[in-house]
Amino acid sequence: MRSAFSSAECPSIIQYEHLNSCPLCGSHNYTKGSQHREILQPAALPANLMHLQGNVSFVSALCEDCGASFNLEGLSDETRITLSKNSYAFLKPSQGVGISNYTYYLDIIMEYLPHKNQRFAEIGGYDGYTPATLSKHGYTDLSLIEPSPQIDNCLVEQGKVKLYKGFFPEADPVWSYHELEYSERKEHLYDVIAARDVFQMLGNPLQMLKSINICLKTNGLAICSSGDIDVMHPQQKLHLGLNAYRTMARAAGFTIVKTIKPHRYSTVFYVMRKEVDLVSDGQAAKDFCAAAPCSKEDFEKEQLKQREIVQRTRQTDAEALKRLNDAVTKHHNLGHEIILYGTGYTCSEMMGNLQIPLSELNLTIVNSDKNEDGYLYLRPDDQTNIVHYAGSYLKDKNIPLIILAVRSKPFKQEIEQLLKSINCQCDELLFIYDND
Ligand SMILES: [Zn+2]
Repeated sequence: MRSAFSSAECPSIIQYEHLNSCPLCGSHNYTKGSQHREILQPAALPANLMHLQGNVSFVSALCEDCGASFNLEGLSDETRITLSKNSYAFLKPSQGVGISNYTYYLDIIMEYLPHKNQRFAEIGGYDGYTPATLSKHGYTDLSLIEPSPQIDNCLVEQGKVKLYKGFFPEADPVWSYHELEYSERKEHLYDVIAARDVFQMLGNPLQMLKSINICLKTNGLAICSSGDIDVMHPQQKLHLGLNAYRTMARAAGFTIVKTIKPHRYSTVFYVMRKEVDLVSDGQAAKDFCAAAPCSKEDFEKEQLKQREIVQRTRQTDAEALKRLNDAVTKHHNLGHEIILYGTGYTCSEMMGNLQIPLSELNLTIVNSDKNEDGYLYLRPDDQTNIVHYAGSYLKDKNIPLIILAVRSKPFKQEIEQLLKSINCQCDELLFIYDND
């Protein structure tokens, strides 16, 4: 264990901004939520990037006009951009990390792409796992638009995936036809555009959805997702729940055809169908977009839920935390080493809710990423733990207590498989969210 840097030693890059209106619709009519304290980046980082990590405070709010949640006091755009450019830890499903989180997403995309020659683009697909997998399934017209792609070059060289490096829409060649009439650009347009967990990071997601409209065929589909969170995270510009998607879809010429919330899954998927073309449909498009996205009653029903969410300060209920503390206390009293498996928000939240001070526990943090062996994880008490690669640290061992610091069942199953494959026995494998 090594001591953490402190903000006095290293000037922080973390700057805050104060908003007095909703970034999505500009309204001043919002409900103020509670203050949160959370780890800035849900990840372990190498020692030389620890100045980009911190425990930060922020206050979220819910817009009563469009249904988006945002940070009244939160990270500045500049800070979020700096972080995402330098160190934001994306899932790398192509390396087997977080692969289970992509299963539903891929199933949904394939469901809406019945023909293998249909045109598909993914925005922000990072390591190209989505088009790579679709290519294996026989799809032939696949594009990836991503500012810092980590895709296997062979796929690009063999022409299986067209890679456009940069931000959507400017980097997308289909966008370059946007000033043409629909009939003139029709043959270039996509059948499906997907963007997984992208919108909530943007300053202006509505503008992005309007650009997607222009790059899609009529009746083409946008498949987007947002984290199904109980509280805002500090790096998010916005939290977009059902009401925010209803508002955006209508204003960008879409209707929501399906909302999918897989059981025990931390993401909600929104399938939206393009109804009008924002460029070529003229007044018809204007009329469509100006109509109410849903009934007042339906909007209010969802707002009730969202209002409660912005008031919450933590994600985990008291009963689950009791199970956590009971197990930790029992094993601590027996003098056992306690393993925490996972380096995301959940790990930080668990540590912040332990009754025994962290400095008194024999605590070891592991995760599934070989490349992060030796990285540091910032604890809520501003100290750091070295992170070990589970595949070697736990190999052939008998461990009294492993706490799964993950919330989703697919992640849990992924870890169980890994433990089995490395012959790790454990007396107690604790998953505190497993109560249904
Ligand atoms: Zn708003």
